[in-house]
Amino acid sequence: MEGTRNLFGLDRAGLEAAMTELDEPAYRARQMYVWLYRRRVRDLAAMTDLGKGLRARLESGFEVRWPEVAARDVSRDGTIKYLFQLDDGATIESVFIPEERRRTICISTQAGCPLKCAFCLTGIAGYKRNLKPWEILGQVATVMDEAPRAGVWGADSAPQLNERARDSLPRERKTKPWNVVVMGMGEPLLNYEATVHALRVLMDPDGFAVAPKKLTLSTVGILPALEKLMAEPVRPNLAISLHAPEPGLRRQLMPIEEKYRLEDVIAAAQRYPIPRGGRVTYEYVLLKGVNDSTTHARQLARRLRGSRAKVNLIPLNAASEIPFEAPTVEAVDAFAGILAAAHVTVSVRRPRGQDILAACGQLHLRDAPGGASGSRASAQ
Ligand code: SAH
Repeated sequence: MEGTRNLFGLDRAGLEAAMTELDEPAYRARQMYVWLYRRRVRDLAAMTDLGKGLRARLESGFEVRWPEVAARDVSRDGTIKYLFQLDDGATIESVFIPEERRRTICISTQAGCPLKCAFCLTGIAGYKRNLKPWEILGQVATVMDEAPRAGVWGADSAPQLNERARDSLPRERKTKPWNVVVMGMGEPLLNYEATVHALRVLMDPDGFAVAPKKLTLSTVGILPALEKLMAEPVRPNLAISLHAPEPGLRRQLMPIEEKYRLEDVIAAAQRYPIPRGGRVTYEYVLLKGVNDSTTHARQLARRLRGSRAKVNLIPLNAASEIPFEAPTVEAVDAFAGILAAAHVTVSVRRPRGQDILAACGQLHLRDAPGGASGSRASAQ
């Protein structure tokens, strides 16, 4: 609505300021915060404990708005890719990934990405702008809100029940824990303020209540921002996009290597405060004949051996615009075997949602909904 201000996205301080403007006591801000983020209610009229008078005043000047879903693509494996159309026409994508024991939301922090990593479609498509906190949080709210109704989660109505009622449900109907990964479009540490603002609300027990250990931020390692993140009181898990065992090769794949060098990024990441026994994840996209040889694996093992590291190998998700090929199964196995033999913890990421181009590195800008392939359910 013209002239109305969106309450969604404001943090505690922002809501307190809004309440002060309305001559309301500060505790109203906390009530509002819980409605917005823990209960995720968008109808101001439904915020019953705010009192009729305040609700009426809120409705005349404010709104609660999430970004608009322009399209949803549903994969054979239950993965759902969301395309959001923002107010200025920019589009971003988020992915819902159902798994055996958990469900994961992959969110974007920028429309496009300025980093231009050679194997990533988002980078190839270019950069538009940073997202605002409400646009980042709105992705999570939308996916969480729709997950139970999406079919993949069965006929589960658990999220609508209160906690006690939910606990009394049979095990299989209980809500699976949510994981949030900041691994969608964009470089989160190039949009530091908005990203950290959103992460605080996500991790807040009065907010989305996502446990910090269930939240992971992935970055190429923007060093000044990484140092700032380390000093935050509550922090997500850290994943570093490495993709090469040495600077020369990394520079060819990731132009950012010119600015923030592999040695320095690893040294900083190893200082990242994590709970005892925790590890920093190093993501390594395997590209056939480029960085997937046994020599590369040995180099990587030498670099990470003995540190609090785990390596996540990601076989390239190929696309016609990407000038690389996926590695062979044998190359992936051999690479993982060498790391494991050197006592470096290693896992191989299973691609999800490949048939709808929802897999890692496949998110990219589209000007208008309807332009991409895949089975498309239009927005309701
Ligand atoms: N800018 C941040 C966050 C984006 S997530 C970062 O780079 O970490 C980016 C991740 O997507 C990369 O680590 C990589 O794991 C993955 N990725 C990008 N392109 C890919 C592709 N074509 N195939 C598989 N994974 C890809």
